[in-house]
Amino acid sequence: MEIQYVPTTCPYCGCGCGFNLVNVDGKLVGVEPWKRNPVNEGKLCPKGNFSYEFVHREDRLTTPLIKKGGEFVEATWDEALDLVASKLTEMKEKNPEQLAFLSSARCTNEDNYTFQKFVRTVIGTNNVDHCARLCHGPSVAGLAQTFGSGAMTNSLESCAHSDVVFLIGTNTLEQHPLMWRRALQAKAKGAKIMVADPRFTPSAKQADLYIPFKSGTDVALLNSMMNVIIAEGLEDKEFVENRTTGYEELKEMVKKYPPEEAEKITGVPADLIREAALMYAKADNASLLFSMGITQHTVGTENVMSTSNLAMLTGNIGRPGTGVNPLRGQNNVQGACDMGALPVSFPGYQAVANEELVEKMTCSWGCSDLSCKPGLTVVEIMHAAHAGDIKGMYIMGENPMISDPDLQHVGEALNNLDFLVVQDIFLTETAELADVVLPAYSWAEKDGTFTSTERRVQYIRKAVEGPGESRDDWAITSDIATRMGSDLFKFNSAQEIFEEIRSVTPQYAGMNKERLEKPEALHWPCPDEEHPGTPILHAEKFSTPDGLGVFKAIEFKAPAENPDEEYPFILTTGRLLFHWHTGSMTRRSETLNREVSTGFVEINTEDAAKLGIKNKEMVKVKTRRGEIEVPAKVTNDIIQGTVFIPFHFAECAANMLTSGDALDPYAKMPELKVSAASIEKLE
Ligand code: SF4
Repeated sequence: MEIQYVPTTCPYCGCGCGFNLVNVDGKLVGVEPWKRNPVNEGKLCPKGNFSYEFVHREDRLTTPLIKKGGEFVEATWDEALDLVASKLTEMKEKNPEQLAFLSSARCTNEDNYTFQKFVRTVIGTNNVDHCARLCHGPSVAGLAQTFGSGAMTNSLESCAHSDVVFLIGTNTLEQHPLMWRRALQAKAKGAKIMVADPRFTPSAKQADLYIPFKSGTDVALLNSMMNVIIAEGLEDKEFVENRTTGYEELKEMVKKYPPEEAEKITGVPADLIREAALMYAKADNASLLFSMGITQHTVGTENVMSTSNLAMLTGNIGRPGTGVNPLRGQNNVQGACDMGALPVSFPGYQAVANEELVEKMTCSWGCSDLSCKPGLTVVEIMHAAHAGDIKGMYIMGENPMISDPDLQHVGEALNNLDFLVVQDIFLTETAELADVVLPAYSWAEKDGTFTSTERRVQYIRKAVEGPGESRDDWAITSDIATRMGSDLFKFNSAQEIFEEIRSVTPQYAGMNKERLEKPEALHWPCPDEEHPGTPILHAEKFSTPDGLGVFKAIEFKAPAENPDEEYPFILTTGRLLFHWHTGSMTRRSETLNREVSTGFVEINTEDAAKLGIKNKEMVKVKTRRGEIEVPAKVTNDIIQGTVFIPFHFAECAANMLTSGDALDPYAKMPELKVSAASIEKLE
């Protein structure tokens, strides 16, 4: 019997935990702790523990598929790739702007880098995006405007040094369990945990202070907390004076939000707002964590900027135990953004609209005619496909038929395409609509790097062979590029690609193989090989041109859709401990799926009683986009007037109900956390 222990990085949430995959005679049989990894020190949540279970599933894609007469037929790689290359060439020659590309936060940095380079150098468009748009696009846009860098300011470990940990719009215990462990380490040393959330989540249940508020009223709550802090003279005057601009405008604006006024908007009692403000402001070191409860709104970017305002006002930036910390949902959502899988930037957030940077990338890549026109975002791509303006799409490792808003619209958009290529590990709901399906390696079969939510760049290592004829994502994309006549994709390994990445991405420049091999790896920015990496940003100055943090005076704006007589509830969506995103991997893990095997709608006990709904009874939830049938979970863990549906489950897909019509003006985020809904008992 041959046993191998292969150290690698978890394929699920953005915490980036390390563990050993155990290979016995060519099959993965489990995971074992990797105690020297400082992210999780040998600890794991259930998803990490059972992450190997889907790898050997019999329904893995093992050969390319081409749709003929409405049915998939197995094909050779030559047949499939020649077809893809010839169709994309033909369509690009007509108009490259009629093609769109979805990259993937599940895939490695090397896969994402290769994919966006293909889109830019071979196709000639910037129509490349990925589902960060639907999770943390506003974090990137908001933090870039206030701090000059759109990333988590502090490391995970830093949170353990907080005196107060403020969670707003994040159920960290369930979604980022190994980050939650750091909050508990702080609590064990006497720190207080504050949670603001419309649901009494497992995180809220362990908090010292729970602030239940109406979904979509974050700005009013945060402005009111700042109103109290300034009124009490608790602002950090020295920090405000020396490190920031825009304070006077902010101070004037928050005067409009005394707690009694904010109570009318948020539903939070004025005294509770005061208590929260004082608790946060009086801490020596307060860290603020947020996730999609903050970002998934048409005011997502403004919500993010409000969190920056609060942290700067109290001087809680640049030290251990402080910071503004967006917890990225997917394993490599930070890396996919860093690699330029975004319609506005090359790798390293270098703007495609900046002529000097276009010139730089043209020289670095040895190409010509890079487009400087920003491309379309995820939701814009679907709208354009629906309208017939996008005619071809290539999707790598994403499943918009579950993850995107308004699924009926998404289905119509994808069916409207002349040509759809999907590259994935399973025949997902999206792959079923494709003309060509390309089988890829899972994370356990790949070498490469992921960049976690704390900007830590870590290796993943191949622990087992991929099934059938599946291949590396970067190799498939490179093969298509070469068949389309490019000679810029002669990569032989992920390491070769990483060497090119660090040559064009300033934040990664100092990351060589020897340094990344160490369990602690490196946090970006790491501009040269002598630089130690940067676990905590903005210690001395912000990343803005003048080094100052920028206060933004932001007024509360109501959500794009509000409850009315016909649709009297606020529907909000989210995630569960045992599942991950569109469920394509966790629902194929026997152990995880056994824990929660289908979706549900959470409804408050009193709301349910008025509608005659009992626990576990089937109900119909309806919005202006569509309706689903789903079992009710009657509970006091959610405020009255709000219902919650997890979005992992295709058979009762929450995104049948959400809207993609209104978008955040900065980050193009739809109103995923607030939809007006009705609910009725099914007879
Ligand atoms: Fe994986 Fe996140 Fe769980 Fe860590 S906390 S084991 S990274 S899912």
